Amino acid sequence: MSSHPIQPSGIDSRTVSCTFCDRLLTEQLLALQCYPSEATSVPDGVPGHGGLTLCPDCASEVVALLTSWHPHGQPSIRTDSSIGDAYQTVASTCSFCTDRTPRGGLGIELYRRVGDELPAYATYTLCEHCQSVFGEFLQTLPNSSEP
Ligand SMILES: [Zn+2]
Ligand SMILES: [Zn+2]
Repeated sequence: MSSHPIQPSGIDSRTVSCTFCDRLLTEQLLALQCYPSEATSVPDGVPGHGGLTLCPDCASEVVALLTSWHPHGQPSIRTDSSIGDAYQTVASTCSFCTDRTPRGGLGIELYRRVGDELPAYATYTLCEHCQSVFGEFLQTLPNSSEP
């Protein structure tokens, strides 16, 4: 007797593929959504719509990076300002370098994770410097040319 597989619940149940290697994702994955504040935009290296889904292989380096970030409290999203601005408001310091105020902040929402190194849900905000570092980091991940 086999039981039904457990459906992913954190994201919609359509089939998703890894942003970086295009592998179809059927197991635990890491998903991030980026929300630039009004004063900034999604950095180079982050896909235009700001959403990333990663297979366990591609996620491992990202997980290693994110474990060094400092999550902040959940932002209160308002309808009259951008989500990124809500992140910037709740973040007093950058989640990465922790010594800059994240003006022109990039909000990052983590809502799935691989393994136990990260919480299942967390929110971060990066200062402008760390946004570009993050974008450059993402560009070092493998691209979609391999079968
Ligand atoms: Zn991948
Ligand atoms: Zn920073």
